[in-house]
Amino acid sequence: MKRLSDIGTIKELLSRHGFSFSKALGQNFLVNPTVCPRMAESSGAGQGVGVLEIGPGIGVLTQELCQLADKVVAVELDKRLLPVLDETLAEFDNIKIVNADVLKLDLNRLIAEEFDGLEVVVCANLPYYITSPVIMKLLEDRLPVTAVTVMVQKEAAQRICAPVGSRESGAVTVSVNYYAKPELLFHVSAGSFMPAPKVDSAVIRLDILQEPSVDCDRAAFFRVVKAAFSQRRKVIANSLSAGLGISKSNAAALLEQAGIAPNARAEQLSLQDFAAIARQLNGGNP
Ligand code: SAM
Repeated sequence: MKRLSDIGTIKELLSRHGFSFSKALGQNFLVNPTVCPRMAESSGAGQGVGVLEIGPGIGVLTQELCQLADKVVAVELDKRLLPVLDETLAEFDNIKIVNADVLKLDLNRLIAEEFDGLEVVVCANLPYYITSPVIMKLLEDRLPVTAVTVMVQKEAAQRICAPVGSRESGAVTVSVNYYAKPELLFHVSAGSFMPAPKVDSAVIRLDILQEPSVDCDRAAFFRVVKAAFSQRRKVIANSLSAGLGISKSNAAALLEQAGIAPNARAEQLSLQDFAAIARQLNGGNP
């Protein structure tokens, strides 16, 4: 097996394939040999498990996943990497590469077609330019996956894993906690990548909940979260009024019925608080 964390090996491989890095596609490849084994171990990949990987690059994490899991399906947008992956993953017969944009794929269908009878987890070093859309797609599509272990920018990891109701929380914190239990696993320095990005990274794991963490209409919940955080420095009555397009007195009435102080701020509210507002918005119905 080629040592894909060895810089000399990578340079030789990439120059032989005439490959140059695309900044636009977020191509920062991992070269720290300790990170991929640790990520793969943490992801839940193992016997009886299928892994969906996003953005395999030259296959450094893919190799680790293939050694642990029954099957790996890796979605890579850049077709220039396909011949490279053919070479680096040649010894594995449990890998399938799908050349597609992950944001445009029907992932439910892909999983049903590829992972029949297996528990499914996601493991990826995500391209940073689409971190939030990919994470939200993985959650909103209600995929039959048990966990999502991904490398993201350190700041994004801290935001996602902040406690709901803390100063560090934001719309993405509340949205992720609706579907999953997030945990920050470990930090990865910028020097662990080639080329090195400007910022550090972290690996997070989202354990997917069987049912959403609160009982209310999903669309109403997300309307409220979006509105509440649209002007996070304002008090909740004002941000809801502006974000939901309702009068200030209607926003105040909504909050009173939900039992929430109108001068609270979005970052102080709990999941139950957001759900209570969503229920009132829906005429008191769950
Ligand atoms: N997994 C490799 C590693 O850890 O070294 C590469 C990770 S690199 C940060 C992100 C990878 O995602 C690149 O290979 C890039 O081409 C791919 N990518 C970018 N946008 C994508 C998209 N929309 N769909 C699928 N793959 C994408």
